[in-house]
Amino acid sequence: MIEISTQVALAELLLSGCTTASDHHYLFPKGLENAIDIQMAQAAKLGVRVHLTRGSMSLGEDDGGLPPQTTVQTEDAILADSERLIQQYHQPQAGAMSRVALAPCSPFSVSEDLMKASAELAAKHDVRLHTHLAETHDETDFCIQMFGLRPVDYLEKVGWLTDRVWLAHGIHFNDAEIARLGAAGTGICHCPSSNMLLASGQCRTLELEAAGSPVGLGVDGSASNDGSNMIQEVRQAFLLQRLRYPASEVTHQKAINWATEGSARCLGRDDIGKLEVGKQADFGLYKLDELRFAGAGDPLAALVLCGAQQADQVMVAGQWRVTDGQINSLDLNDLIHRQKQLAQKLASL
Ligand SMILES: [Zn+2]
Repeated sequence: MIEISTQVALAELLLSGCTTASDHHYLFPKGLENAIDIQMAQAAKLGVRVHLTRGSMSLGEDDGGLPPQTTVQTEDAILADSERLIQQYHQPQAGAMSRVALAPCSPFSVSEDLMKASAELAAKHDVRLHTHLAETHDETDFCIQMFGLRPVDYLEKVGWLTDRVWLAHGIHFNDAEIARLGAAGTGICHCPSSNMLLASGQCRTLELEAAGSPVGLGVDGSASNDGSNMIQEVRQAFLLQRLRYPASEVTHQKAINWATEGSARCLGRDDIGKLEVGKQADFGLYKLDELRFAGAGDPLAALVLCGAQQADQVMVAGQWRVTDGQINSLDLNDLIHRQKQLAQKLASL
């Protein structure tokens, strides 16, 4: 199931023009200890550049956490497997096709010790750190109740307020917290569709950027956003952020920059995110001959304003991975069929 769901997610992203994907997988029940290995194999098969995060949950229901007890692992097992995955898959060099980051699920689901130990392990191997933070008011309440601290204070206490970290969502920060995150260079992955779907709130992107934080774009997972289309996410970010900031500051170029340069910075990379001599040959090409683009002017603005949905050609690391709107070496109809069968099977368990 992980193999097929990974193929589905990566295929949808690739077809939307996404060339580098990051996933936060944090479920390792008995029998699925090799989930990241399965994801790595699928990414290599499709030729998508990936930053796969070794998620973790150690604080089960029995200990006051949120996750069911069957989904949590011991901290020793989590740390040992994190180290194994770094050694096996993390490519530190420029042009890397696979990197590993460490990613305790959220403050709801791991202990303080595991947050600290993950930060130490990440520093030891020079890999990045990721988690969810400040997505909902519930989370802030939980942090205050459980740790006596607001989320950013907690982050600082466990050694995570650094430029090694990028956070998913980052919605409910006060002004002082934004200044601290910016000064630290902590990245924020803005997930507009998910935030709207779950009624979580609105990320303060421009203020975070002005403070010094890299801001990137994410589609979030299928439990929070039923589609994984990066070019549509650019339009969602553009529209949602215009509800908060002046139109002149949230331009189509700004939204595209979040998806490219901003996201690359969140992942700690300077070899991707920009079309420039010396950077990786990663890009998507879109046709403007669909009805939605009729009469459009500036072609780049048209992608965002008219709502492009699919790339026609996608190159990753100098290799064509999508040609004429099709993923090379993937039978999409068969994949959809298998995903449907497995989803039904899962629903009936
Ligand atoms: Zn999420």
